[in-house]
Amino acid sequence: MFGLQGTGIGGGIVIGRARVLETSQRDVLRYRLQPDNAEAELERLQSAIETVKAELGELAEHLPADAPAEAHALLDVHAMILDDPALADAAREAIREHLWNAEWAFSAQAGHLAAQFAELEDPYLSERGRDVKQVADRVIRVLSGSRARGAVVAEPAIFVAEDIAPADMLSLRSALGFCIDLGGVTSHTAILARSMNVPAVVGLGSASELIRDDDWLILDGESGVVIVAPDETVLAEYRHRQDAGRLERERLRRLIKVPCVTLDGVRVSLEANIERPEEAAQALEAGADGVGLFRSEFLFLNRRELPGEDEQYEAYRDAVLGMAGRPVTIRTLDVGAEKELSTESGAVAPNPALGRRAIRFCLAAPSVFLTQLRAILRASAHGKVRLLIPMLAHAHEIDQSLQMIEAARSQLRERRQPFDEQVPVGGMVEVPAAALSASLFVKRLDFLSIGTNDLIQYTLAIDRTDHEVAGLYDPFHPAVLRLIALTIRAARKADKPVAVCGEMAGDWAATRLLLGMGLTQFSMHEASLLRVKQEILLSDVSKLAPKVARLLASDDPARVRSLLMRLRSDGI
Ligand code: PEP
Ligand code: MG
Repeated sequence: MFGLQGTGIGGGIVIGRARVLETSQRDVLRYRLQPDNAEAELERLQSAIETVKAELGELAEHLPADAPAEAHALLDVHAMILDDPALADAAREAIREHLWNAEWAFSAQAGHLAAQFAELEDPYLSERGRDVKQVADRVIRVLSGSRARGAVVAEPAIFVAEDIAPADMLSLRSALGFCIDLGGVTSHTAILARSMNVPAVVGLGSASELIRDDDWLILDGESGVVIVAPDETVLAEYRHRQDAGRLERERLRRLIKVPCVTLDGVRVSLEANIERPEEAAQALEAGADGVGLFRSEFLFLNRRELPGEDEQYEAYRDAVLGMAGRPVTIRTLDVGAEKELSTESGAVAPNPALGRRAIRFCLAAPSVFLTQLRAILRASAHGKVRLLIPMLAHAHEIDQSLQMIEAARSQLRERRQPFDEQVPVGGMVEVPAAALSASLFVKRLDFLSIGTNDLIQYTLAIDRTDHEVAGLYDPFHPAVLRLIALTIRAARKADKPVAVCGEMAGDWAATRLLLGMGLTQFSMHEASLLRVKQEILLSDVSKLAPKVARLLASDDPARVRSLLMRLRSDGI
């Protein structure tokens, strides 16, 4: 038995077997299938092989007339490797016999074959090992893109990895929990684990090297502790804690129907963040007043072709119908940084978080943007929709977005497709530039939503995915607090709604702080709603406001935290 300490991202305690995802080939997902899924996995492999063959054929056909003869020969060699039974048949056998997923089976066989070639003395033949790897890479890339969301059902397990891209997590629906070496609390990997409703610990350092497949693990998503191969006494202690957690959740459930009003009568709206339309039902059940953030990009990840207008419309409509008349805030595509599209090929930007992300991507790809805008507007025929634009930094980005929205509206009018002409358009405040310009930007918009995850990242220059600097990522840093307060004040002065939808909204230790700044709209993962509601019910905004104004003068985050706790125990 030994323990590891990382950063807990919530979800309670889980006990289960480890499934270690290969570290040396981070991009190759490894998991065991359920026996019923083996046939579908074989078909998936076959279709990927055929796609690569077609790609190679296409490449050969379009080689320029003056291409060297070797280019043709190379493509022929690659096509032959694909046909080689030593590779494809062995991979099929691994799927059937060991129930390995297709990526695992194919990469493992390619690895064997490449190693055999590498041992040959003949320099020409030993080079062929590299060709095998290149062909395998192509097949795995196609396989990763072809994985339909939620279609792959692996054995329930606690997945352990150096890192998992958000896109890959979507195919691990059977996860009981996640232990991840890298990342911080607000990395998208962490956010997705939360939306999958499973405990997770990130920033574990070298868990993926220390933990072996099938080890028993206790994972505590609250304290960030992972215990490997626990003994009976420790197991009994954690089973007891698991039960206590369950009881606490049951107790909080009694608050679902209680109106969310502070002690001094301020009505606060609690909304949910969702990543997939199916989560709307869960949000409604947890008592959410609406969806404050639908991260639409998760419909776009992990696929070879982007979703078309109808597919998107159906997803947005389902979320709207799922919320039964409550508003749904649909954020336009926020891709880039760690949420890379499978369809985007090419070099990785030197600094992706500062690159062509979110609205920058959309304005550079107007047809993708317009398609999404039409789909969102069409969903507004079924209930209350708000449209939210991410990562704004410039006024001209707002103007261009508004023009695109107007273009989408007129296309729908021409097509005589119904939509709500009054859909409010809001902007996310995630970049310090937007916070500092909030009083100007808000004039062009119907509402603001503060994305604290990115606002903290960009204000403090801390990569939210980098565990090396996770300790410096501090929501209570005075610069962050001032930017949040400034934004709330600007929106209130302009009489426009303002929400916080970053992870800070779901952190009950920050609830009083945000209330004291004048916030009355919070959006968070559904699992945090009742805990935050409990804090709100016990707060008094009229007394909090002057105290919080004074806290903003402090440059010591630890002191801010402890003063907030004191306010709590004083019943304010
Ligand atoms: C944020 O940045 O706080 C936010 C809500 O957006 P995301 O976490 O999806 O970047
Ligand atoms: Mg963000």
